[in-house]
Amino acid sequence: MPDKIAQERWDDLVVGTSPLMLMLAQLLAVEGRRVLIVDRDAVRGGAWQTAIIKDDSKRSDVATEIACHVIEAFPGVYECLEAAAGVPFETLREQPMRVGRNGRLLPYFNRPLLLLAALRMTAGVAVHGLKTVLGRRSARNEYLNNRIKLANLLRFQIGYLRGCPKMRGPRFGYVDFLTRLYERAIRAGADFERREVTAIHRDGNRWRVTDSERRTLLVSAVHATTSVGLRPDQAGTGWVAAKARPDLRLAVVVELAEADILTHQCYVGIWRRWPLRRVSRVDTMPPVDKSEAGIKRFLVELQFERRANKRELNSALEEALDLTAIRRPGAPFRQIGAVECVAMQNIDLLPEGELADGVITYHTSGNLAAGIANWLRNRAPRSPRWLPPDMPLAESSLATPEDVDGPANHLV
Ligand SMILES: Cc1cc2nc3c(=O)[nH]c(=O)nc-3n(C[C@H](O)[C@H](O)[C@H](O)COP(=O)(O)OP(=O)(O)OC[C@H]3O[C@@H](n4cnc5c(N)ncnc54)[C@H](O)[C@@H]3O)c2cc1C
Repeated sequence: MPDKIAQERWDDLVVGTSPLMLMLAQLLAVEGRRVLIVDRDAVRGGAWQTAIIKDDSKRSDVATEIACHVIEAFPGVYECLEAAAGVPFETLREQPMRVGRNGRLLPYFNRPLLLLAALRMTAGVAVHGLKTVLGRRSARNEYLNNRIKLANLLRFQIGYLRGCPKMRGPRFGYVDFLTRLYERAIRAGADFERREVTAIHRDGNRWRVTDSERRTLLVSAVHATTSVGLRPDQAGTGWVAAKARPDLRLAVVVELAEADILTHQCYVGIWRRWPLRRVSRVDTMPPVDKSEAGIKRFLVELQFERRANKRELNSALEEALDLTAIRRPGAPFRQIGAVECVAMQNIDLLPEGELADGVITYHTSGNLAAGIANWLRNRAPRSPRWLPPDMPLAESSLATPEDVDGPANHLV
């Protein structure tokens, strides 16, 4: 049985810590709501988590994202993220790229690719929609994903056929960005606890939220993304834990000498070349340690079906650095270390919107910028209030603006 006495300290429960949820927590807390953020993982960020890799050959360790990241140019999104994180978003000097099937480097957005994406999604909606109607439950996620992505493309991105706006990134990189979002939510008054939500049910005019340790909370509102591993219960009176399957990726940090770098790519997505997925530049503060001058780090995201041996890993890294035109042919590189990224793929995705009075879901799965653009369009207050931009970060933070004499994204 769950605890008899449910805690009633909070008004709003925010489930999950991806950037949209951290933004939302700050906004609600600034408005004076008592907010609790929960995550089943002790490390915040969801797919935007950060990690520290020990580098024995240097004095300072390496702070890295656990996957390569890019935020696409959707209407109002950069401005909103700037205000929420309190850090400028600057035009990326090297715009994100993709490696096509034939190994050619292409701009991240290009006309044939956009048209192809629209066709693929339309086919996805038709095929998976039909399978869902015929009772194939497993097709429902694909159907929902394709439908939402197609709507986003038609709503926000079709204008890119005439020309795509330049993409931007946070001045000090994504590790700093995520840290700021979290710190600012806490400074605004939100609390954070590690909890895994397993059930949400009505209790009078409040929502009773149960976690995996059978603790309960009573809150007025629950905010979650569609990917928090819950599904409607059989009686249709609430939501309970759903199944998820892990999707394992490996992010390897490699270091190259500046002189051995052909192109300082900031982000390159690689199309269908197993196990290569994406490569991005690790943008952090200027080196504190002198031994770091003249080197640059890149994050290579790989997806192996089983644990790779040393030789397989090395050849995947070489191929990734060559295909993306990052290293001069044959130039040496050093592997600093690797982090595993376990993203959970939900088998039952929640629908998006107000599921009941006070239970609201946001869909950012697959594309953070699209999720934020939809939130801005449908749910954000007309003039959202954020903490002032000059709020200094806590000492625990990985980086402070005072340490920096120039934008890391531009340090090439
Ligand atoms: C490896 C990877 C890289 C990506 N890169 C990009 C990118 O570069 N750009 C982009 O726009 N999008 C990217 N995405 C898409 C990404 O899904 C979104 O950007 C965004 O992170 C989705 O947010 P989310 O909250 O839906 O899911 P997540 O980011 O997965 O966050 C969900 C969080 O909720 C927690 N949680 C889940 N269930 C529960 C529960 N029951 N109780 C408590 N906590 C729970 C999880 O621990 C997690 O922290 C990437 C996705 C993956 C998997």
